[in-house]
Amino acid sequence: MNSMLEAALTQIKETSTILEGDYPDKKRFKKAIEAVLTPQRVVKGKVSIKVVSGKRKIFQAFRIEHNDARGPFKGGIRFHPNVNEDEVRALSTLMSLKCAVAGIPYGGAKGGIVVDPSKLTKEELKNLSVEYAKFITPYIGPWKDVPAPDVNTDGQIMSWMLETYEKKIGYQAPATFTGKPIELGGSLGRTEATGQGGVYVLTAYAKAKKINIKTSTVAVQGFGNVGSYFVKFASEAGFKIVAVSDSSSGIYNPKGLNIKTLWEFKAKGGAFKEFPLKNGTKLITNAGLLELPVTILVPAALENSITKENMEKISAKVVFEMANGPTTSEADAYLFKKGIDVIPDILTNSGGVTVSYFEWVQNLNGYYWTLEKVNEQLKKTIIKAFDDIDKIVKAKKISYRRGANYLSIKRIIDAMMLRGRV
Ligand code: NAD
Repeated sequence: MNSMLEAALTQIKETSTILEGDYPDKKRFKKAIEAVLTPQRVVKGKVSIKVVSGKRKIFQAFRIEHNDARGPFKGGIRFHPNVNEDEVRALSTLMSLKCAVAGIPYGGAKGGIVVDPSKLTKEELKNLSVEYAKFITPYIGPWKDVPAPDVNTDGQIMSWMLETYEKKIGYQAPATFTGKPIELGGSLGRTEATGQGGVYVLTAYAKAKKINIKTSTVAVQGFGNVGSYFVKFASEAGFKIVAVSDSSSGIYNPKGLNIKTLWEFKAKGGAFKEFPLKNGTKLITNAGLLELPVTILVPAALENSITKENMEKISAKVVFEMANGPTTSEADAYLFKKGIDVIPDILTNSGGVTVSYFEWVQNLNGYYWTLEKVNEQLKKTIIKAFDDIDKIVKAKKISYRRGANYLSIKRIIDAMMLRGRV
């Protein structure tokens, strides 16, 4: 079993020990937990395309639908050579938990193809997207399963898939996919939603913990979609960003970095190892960034950044996860014991799927919102999620991760019980 799946299943099992007390019928509760540990449907098969040489090439494809007790399945499609059934299953499980935490009416799913898309021509990429859409057509739809982009897939790929699906069913159904370009019914605010949502949560957390924003320092690993917007909005909210990084290097200035300069540098395609070092800014390694004595450390790049190897060197007061799965279970337990709050990914980065939900709502209504309305609704939804978890954390004296898992698994189990599935 892969480590991400093992971690997801362990978290569910561990959380079940604190949830158990809420359910007097122990047999029924056990059945419900078993259902949360198991996906409802695993679709796997081969898709093939004709490549430039004229030969047919075959690819392994997956769509795993985890649990739809709370609403249609929802989750991204990943094109990557490391895609495998365990990983897709783990990610589909985490999507169920994330949607439940965010309080949006979806279950979790994930899909993927084992492929290195950088080795495909544009025509091959289009054909592969079309074949994959045909492969999942029987299972998807606005009220069944709503895919979205994930690693190495984007609005263009969603557009090709939407066209394939609509041709097959014979009518328009834009709410079948989210993450679409604005021209095809995408939502304003989706691009920046994950970073923006994270900063709404961080601000609410600082308020709950009486942390002074003005004197708080922040280090962010990763400056892609999530990291760059997180840095922008956190700085606008008054936090001092002292370090950022990309895969090439990190840069650090204890007096604070100029965010506009970072954005301009990145917009020109720069790598931080070549960043002009002025006014006390210096280069640091990605490993060094994680060990900085900052108020808030934000892993926003990769899974497994904080592990048993470096957990003892973490000097931040708070770890605020923006990437998916950046803290291993071992490191998470260690940080909790040390009194370092870890604010979990399923809450902090749920802004992305929340605005995907708004996209679906707008598509179903055929009526489109202003950016102000999107952000207002995002703020309301994600702060409610934080407040719900914060109450559980305080009442039960558990970690934020345990609180988030408790809330999400309870919501899924209650929905399954109401439906009489268990
Ligand atoms: P991205 O590809 O846009 O950016 C990734 C960033 O990480 C880049 O700056 C890259 O240089 C950096 N990076 C890559 N390898 C690194 C390394 N070894 N060390 C340090 N930095 C490295 O990706 P993204 O969309 O910003 O996603 C980042 C994380 O957030 C992922 O875990 C993703 O699953 C998660 N996430 C993204 C969204 C979203 O809406 N984009 C939503 C939820 C979760």
